[in-house]
Amino acid sequence: MHTRRRFVRRTLGPLVVGVASPLPNQVVHAQSRGRSYRYSLVVKGGRVIDPSQGLSAPRDIAVSGSKIAQIADSIPESDALHVIDASGRIVTPGWIDIHVHVYDGVAPLGIPADPNCIAKGVTTAIDAGSAGAHTFPGLRKYVINTADTRILALLNISVVGQSTLSQDNPWGELLDLRYANTALAAKTIERHRDVIVGMKVRLTRNIAGNHDLEVLRRAREAADAAGLPVMVHIGGSHSTVPEILSLMKPGDVITHSFRGGEGGILDDDGRVHDEVLSGVASGIHLDIGHGAGSFSFDTAETAMEQGLLPGTISSDVHQFNVNGPVFDLATTVSKFLHLAACGFNRFADHVGRWPCLVVLRRPMRVFRRIPGSLPV
Ligand SMILES: [Zn+2]
Repeated sequence: MHTRRRFVRRTLGPLVVGVASPLPNQVVHAQSRGRSYRYSLVVKGGRVIDPSQGLSAPRDIAVSGSKIAQIADSIPESDALHVIDASGRIVTPGWIDIHVHVYDGVAPLGIPADPNCIAKGVTTAIDAGSAGAHTFPGLRKYVINTADTRILALLNISVVGQSTLSQDNPWGELLDLRYANTALAAKTIERHRDVIVGMKVRLTRNIAGNHDLEVLRRAREAADAAGLPVMVHIGGSHSTVPEILSLMKPGDVITHSFRGGEGGILDDDGRVHDEVLSGVASGIHLDIGHGAGSFSFDTAETAMEQGLLPGTISSDVHQFNVNGPVFDLATTVSKFLHLAACGFNRFADHVGRWPCLVVLRRPMRVFRRIPGSLPV
């Protein structure tokens, strides 16, 4: 649980997510500590964007403890202990990144959670399969339980999670099918129901060999036992996307959905596979999962021309893309604003309301719910 001071320190950037860089010191100031204040914090002069209530307008926001206390055209600075000048910036509810890798030190692609999530506007992040049944207790103990960012997880169907593949060892976690242990995955979900929100499989050839469909079947079985979705990483797999989709069901998620190259959502003629269109129509979700090489402007433009729009926008931020091309979720979102894939006033849907419904399966707690918890 955040103390107010800790939350303010961590979220000076994220409260104002229109900029990826930290706020300069002069935009934040503290009033005298010698008196009592009505609010802990006032964020002044920003454009508040909250699509859940159709709000996109200049507003001040007052925070009291961990609650949003007031949203108004103008709230006096003198009412708050801390004041953030958000002029020229965007203020939104905390973002949700449904594809990150924050098992720092265990999965070779892992990075520390807080500097890359809550400090960058992401108050809730979902670790996408960095841990499997054997390594999940460590993810829980050393990352989920200690980070300021609220971290949830998709469990890898491989017992070893993503601990094997690195730049020096190109062999993924599912080359040995015996590591895809359905019963152990189901047991792990039961033990950690409060933080595991689904299963994850990566189906690329150097990760799942030529038994990708069997891997997916096993993940689906473990997920079904718990009533949870499966996130499927596509691209460069032995089986085709239509074959993969035939084993997925409504509520499941395709990540890296706008990737280029072999094994994506487009056929050889550049048409979106019919199975992708019918899958999306039936309730399979498309997630971006930008990654190091899993997003293509060409694919995005081609798909959008054919009426297929992005669903959730996630970063897949990890060790090998955090210094580019991903950097963070704000940079990823900016690409979609550039593509005009989502209107300026609607972009927060892709990193807020939709992730809530797709993976968390509950409505977003928004500014409107006063008093509501500040982080979504
Ligand atoms: Zn990933």
